[in-house]
Amino acid sequence: MTKEVRVRFAPSPTGALHIGGLRTALYNYLFAKKMGGKFILRIEDTDQTRFVPGAEEYIQESLDWLGISPDESPWKPGSVAPYRQSERKASYMQYALELVEKGHAYYAFDTAEELEAMRERLTAARVLQPQYNSITRSQMKNSLTLSGAELKERLASGDPYVIRAKLPLKEEVRLHDLIRGWVMVHSSTLDDKVLMKSDGMPTYHLANIVDDHLMGITHVIRGEEWLPSAPLHVLLYRFFGWEDTMPQFAHLPLLLKPDGNGKLSKRDGDKLGFPVFPLNWVDPFSGEKSSGFRENGYLQEALLNFLAFLGWNPGDEREIFSLEELVEAFSIERIGKSGTKFDIAKAKWLNEHYLRSSSQVQLISYLQKDADAAGVAIAQEKAAAIVALLRERVTFPADFWRDSQFLHQAPSDFDPEVATKKWNGDAATLLQAYAQTLESGLPAPFDAASAKALLESTAEANGIKLGKVMQAARLAVTGLGAGLDLMEVFAILGPQEVAKRIRFALDTLAIVD
Ligand code: GLU
Repeated sequence: MTKEVRVRFAPSPTGALHIGGLRTALYNYLFAKKMGGKFILRIEDTDQTRFVPGAEEYIQESLDWLGISPDESPWKPGSVAPYRQSERKASYMQYALELVEKGHAYYAFDTAEELEAMRERLTAARVLQPQYNSITRSQMKNSLTLSGAELKERLASGDPYVIRAKLPLKEEVRLHDLIRGWVMVHSSTLDDKVLMKSDGMPTYHLANIVDDHLMGITHVIRGEEWLPSAPLHVLLYRFFGWEDTMPQFAHLPLLLKPDGNGKLSKRDGDKLGFPVFPLNWVDPFSGEKSSGFRENGYLQEALLNFLAFLGWNPGDEREIFSLEELVEAFSIERIGKSGTKFDIAKAKWLNEHYLRSSSQVQLISYLQKDADAAGVAIAQEKAAAIVALLRERVTFPADFWRDSQFLHQAPSDFDPEVATKKWNGDAATLLQAYAQTLESGLPAPFDAASAKALLESTAEANGIKLGKVMQAARLAVTGLGAGLDLMEVFAILGPQEVAKRIRFALDTLAIVD
């Protein structure tokens, strides 16, 4: 029987979840579901100095909104609880001591000054990467250099210490990454990383390995920034004797700035006017605001589809995928190695697609909600007509309200450029006659076709070429020089309102000839 696939998303609650983190979560989810396995959320909160209140709730809300809620999490624990590292605090020390016992880790008592002095010494000796490693540790204050008696005494007197991994001097560490293939690193380039800090908390490296082991994780799918840590993790699995159950690794490509130069940051989003977080966020300490995809009007389906393609593709031309279709099509083999440019135009295109495919009822509710908020009542029939007119032209739900302003409120001023160029005697004559006809009461229903027929016959009766005055007619009724199908606009406004607006324009605009 093959083992059940168990993957985890392991964010640290240090602020808003970056969009790259959300992509990692999505790929973990897709892989788990594709393989009939479990998607687990683990909160990595061992660094208490970086803990930010609200960040954990933000992660939960983001995953729920996207529809990729974990099977097991701090809020829905499975059989391998706890799902928050801080709650496992007591056991990490035992694991670290087990490594000390086995000779794969050691106590180190060096003070900050001593560490600094070592770095200075090595820098002066032109060592490119001064670090605490298999060579330098022999000159430092640790359980490898101190006498047994001194070690005992220091431990008994409560001298602060850390526990460091004891890395081999000369060894090629190999790991097979599912995306990158074989990765080889020489142990002489690695340092003796701290596993337990002096505050009694584990570092990321120790806690991560212990938890992945205890939680039965089979695949570690995470961002490329963790690739340099992976050789140490492989060594730790070996030190513990857990090689047989070591997870497989897949390091995801970086998300790049839109121009491809460097990693995508919050600043890029602020500068270029797009969100890089799923939801709005206000930092509780600094008050700094970050804007979210959701509040910017991106639909959940669109963001999901967009994120899936940031590094993965199905291998054919298809671009529109529902969550179920993504699960079906997903494979780690089709994740690229190189960084992916963040192309917000693609996200907008997808949003337009999903918005257009929403039901009429849904779209009307978007418009009505914004109108309500502005204190404007729109008759349901009018709202339906507005939605029908705009649905092929909008990108975000809020566009229905924004782009239909002139349908709710008569213009109080007119595009001056169009007024100067197009408001002439012919236009005034025609519109005057048209308004009069509209006011006199019309027998037939006033729709786009009849509004047009009436305008044409009025033009003919006055010997005026309609093509030459259409823009003036638009200006009179909407205040604008361009926009939606004008006859549809007339139909939505109704004959009395069109006539009223024409009268106001006739009174307000000066004729140019
Ligand atoms: N806590 C790490 C992070 O914040 C997790 C890295 C991993 O998945 O191993 O990204």
